[in-house]
Amino acid sequence: MDRVRASATAASLTESVIREMTRLALQHDAINLAQGFPDFPAPEQVKRAAVAAIEADQNQYPITWGQRSIREALADKYRHHYGMQIDPERNVCVTCGATEAMIGAMVGCVDPGQEVIVFEPFYENYGAAAAIAGASPRYVTLREPGWSFDEAELAAAFTSATRAIVVNTPGNPTGKVFSREELTAIARLCERHGVLAITDEIYEHIVYDGARHIPMATIPGMEDRTITISALSKTYSVTGWRVGWAIAPPDLTDAIRRVHDFVTVGAPTPFQEAGAVALRLPDSYYQRLAADYTERRGLMLGVLAAAGLRPATTPAGAYYIMTDASALGFADGTAAARALTVKAGVAAVPGSSFYSRPGPGRSMIRFSYSKRLATLREAGRRLAEFSAGPG
Ligand code: PLP
Repeated sequence: MDRVRASATAASLTESVIREMTRLALQHDAINLAQGFPDFPAPEQVKRAAVAAIEADQNQYPITWGQRSIREALADKYRHHYGMQIDPERNVCVTCGATEAMIGAMVGCVDPGQEVIVFEPFYENYGAAAAIAGASPRYVTLREPGWSFDEAELAAAFTSATRAIVVNTPGNPTGKVFSREELTAIARLCERHGVLAITDEIYEHIVYDGARHIPMATIPGMEDRTITISALSKTYSVTGWRVGWAIAPPDLTDAIRRVHDFVTVGAPTPFQEAGAVALRLPDSYYQRLAADYTERRGLMLGVLAAAGLRPATTPAGAYYIMTDASALGFADGTAAARALTVKAGVAAVPGSSFYSRPGPGRSMIRFSYSKRLATLREAGRRLAEFSAGPG
C-alpha cells in the first residue's frame, strides 16, 4: 500500500520557529522571551466577565460571525478611537484570533495562483496563510534604521497577478509603526492596481513616544479595499482566549464569513462576551497599557545594553526588539538563539525566521518583552552573566 503522505500544501508549511523555541525554552527551563505572550494577569474585570458568561450558561455555539455584544462593542470602539463607521451586521466577522482572521481573509478573498505582497521581516504566519489560499507571497524588504520601504521597489512588486498586500502596523518583529505618508504611498499603489490591503493591527494600542496608530482603512480611498484585522490577544493580555476579528466592506466580510463558518464555526462564546466588556474599557486603560509597555521597553533596552547587545532600532510600537547577536560572538542568529536558550536560560528567536531568504537577518535575534519587570530583570541577570562568562 502507498504510504500516506502530506499534501503539497502541508508540506510547504514549515513549523513555526517561534513555537519550536518555546518548546526548547520549556525543556531547559529558560525564560521565554521568544514567544510574544504576557506572564502578567489579564485585567480583573475582563476575567470576571468571562467567568460570569460561563456561569450564565453562555456556553453554546455563538452566532457564527460573532455575538451581537462584541460586534456592537467593536463598532463603538472603532468609532471612538479612529472615527471609523462600522455596521455590526455587515462589516464584522469575529474569528479565533487574528490568525484565523488572516487565513479567512486570504482564503476568502485571494484566488489560487494570485500574488500577495508581504513586507519582510514579517510575522511568520503571512506566508503560511498565503500558501493555504494557494497564493504566492511576493516579498518587499523593510530596511533599518526606520524599517521603511523603497517606493520604487514596492511599486515593482505590484503585477497583474497581485491581489492583496499585507501591512502589519505596529509591526512584529521590527516595532515599525507605519506613518501616514507610508500608508498613503501604499494606498496609491493599491488603488492604481485594484489591490486589497489586509492589515494586521493587533498591536494597535502598544505604541510609544506619542506615536499614533493609523488604521489603513482611514486613509482616503482605502475604506472599501481594506480588511482590518485585530484581536483581544495582545491589547487585553489574553492570547489563549482565541478571539480576533476582521472588519471589511460587506462583500469581503461575506467572503470571510463563508470560510470562517466552515473552518471554526465560531470563536468561544464566553470569551466573546468578555471581549465585549474589554472593548468598552475607558481610554485610561489604553494609556496605562502603553505606559506599562514603555517601562518594559526601557528596562529591556537596558538589559540588552548591559549584555553588549545594541537594538537594530528602538521599537516605535509592539513589544519586540531585534538585535545583532554578533556582539556575543555569534555569526549566526540560529546558533545564538539556541545557545542563549540552553546555556544562558533566556530564549530568543533567530532573525532569519522573519525573512524569506538567507542573508538579511542572519546574525539577528529577536527578544519579546511582554513580561513582568521582575522576569525581565532576571533575564537581564542571566544574559549579563552569559556575556561576561567564559562561554
Ligand atoms: N499578528 C501578529 C503580528 C502577531 O505578532 C501575533 C502573535 O504574536 C498574531 C498576529 C497572533 O494573533 P492571535 O493570537 O490573535 O491569533
